[in-house]
Amino acid sequence: MVGFRVPQVARRRAGCVQVRCGVLIDEYQRSKAYKNIFSAGVCVAIPPVEATPVPTGAPKTGYMIETMVSAIVHNIKDELAGQPVTTKATWNAICLADMGDTGAAFVALPQIPPRNVNWFKKGKWVHLAKIAFEKYFMRKMKNGTPEPIYEKYVLKALGIARLIR
Ligand SMILES: Cc1cc2nc3c(=O)[nH]c(=O)nc-3n(C[C@H](O)[C@H](O)[C@H](O)COP(=O)(O)OP(=O)(O)OC[C@H]3O[C@@H](n4cnc5c(N)ncnc54)[C@H](O)[C@@H]3O)c2cc1C
Repeated sequence: MVGFRVPQVARRRAGCVQVRCGVLIDEYQRSKAYKNIFSAGVCVAIPPVEATPVPTGAPKTGYMIETMVSAIVHNIKDELAGQPVTTKATWNAICLADMGDTGAAFVALPQIPPRNVNWFKKGKWVHLAKIAFEKYFMRKMKNGTPEPIYEKYVLKALGIARLIR
């Protein structure tokens, strides 16, 4: 993945971010410089997985980011209750990447190597699965149920969880 620059508003806070790579965080998704700032998604600083001829960043995908956000919600709740933060995100990844007339699906647990699970398949079925997933995802969001109980148990049976607690 190309190396994105993080928004200027984050870059202005000295000690909070690396110039290119994003917000430096601890294992609880908190900025290392400002513990009351949490960070999730593409703005998190993750070191490049390997040296490449052109600058690249570590891949970040939707489910992986959902695990980060879930951890942040638990940790903010704990902070507001005056408790120490304890929740870590798994950074697990399940991805359906649509490429038009074909697509690629992968499961990477966790997304950043070294991995416990590394599964990849390519084919037109991924394109169709992505269309079905989009409809399922939008329905979940409209109903306000981002993680239905049946989804949680199916993923758990496959060894895919959002949080380390
Ligand atoms: C081409 C492409 C294909 C991808 N395909 C897949 C896929 O198939 N499956 C998958 O899981 N992941 C995929 N990803 C990755 C996934 O889309 C991203 O990892 C994810 O969207 C990042 O989420 P985020 O919330 O961190 O950032 P974003 O989704 O980029 O959200 C950041 C938001 O912040 C806003 N913003 C920026 N600066 C400011 C500012 N100063 N003030 C206010 N708002 C601001 C932006 O407008 C944006 O809406 C793909 C990414 C790309 C680029």
